[in-house]
Amino acid sequence: MNRYEEMTWPEAKEKIPAARGVIITLGSVEQHGPHLPLGTDMFMGQEVACRVGELTDCLVLPVIPFGQVWSAKEFPGTISLSPETLCNLLVDISLSLNHHGAKNIIMITGHSGNSSVMKDAARILYDRYHIKNVLYYAYPDKKKLAEGIMESPFWNGRLMHAAEMETSMMLAVKPELVHMDRAVREYPDVPEELDFKTVPWSEYSQTGVFGDATLATEKKGEEYIRRMVEHIAKSILHITAE
Ligand SMILES: [Zn+2]
Repeated sequence: MNRYEEMTWPEAKEKIPAARGVIITLGSVEQHGPHLPLGTDMFMGQEVACRVGELTDCLVLPVIPFGQVWSAKEFPGTISLSPETLCNLLVDISLSLNHHGAKNIIMITGHSGNSSVMKDAARILYDRYHIKNVLYYAYPDKKKLAEGIMESPFWNGRLMHAAEMETSMMLAVKPELVHMDRAVREYPDVPEELDFKTVPWSEYSQTGVFGDATLATEKKGEEYIRRMVEHIAKSILHITAE
């Protein structure tokens, strides 16, 4: 068992410095179309992080449920932290972990909107506190790992949100929260100014799905999670090898 919050303090004293590292898991409370729950990214982040922790001998902190979700902020139910708030949270948690002797601090997010904030926090830890052993993962190589599994294209060649793969992952882990009868396919027109101006999703997406959620299956989700977990674990083992 590698759940951080389940340890007593005498166990923590011994296990934190002995483990390869401690994983900080990030998620979001964010619209995921008409068929997936708001907590999709926190559930998936937690699942991936726990499995990675098993493979790498890392302790896993409880998921931080909230993330930076500016793009989806207009959809009912979405909660968005400012990048500053999230960054401060990550830095403070990391300082505590470092104080308790964590060898490596590893951030894993189930929500890609947290990516740049994880990097910002790692740089603050590096520059201000000389804590250099901070790693961060936001579903790396998601496109390559989806090859042979995913049948629908990424939206705009790069985004998958509440679509085939995320819905499949949820079917594999939390099927009771997936409403496949409400799953849709939507490829909104790409706003011309998208790469040069910040535009909330609500201005061009009807359902909040970017891709084809109707093609999701439990089998695809299980295989994708397995590949992602192995990919991240391999990277952690490689980078933190002593
Ligand atoms: Zn998501």
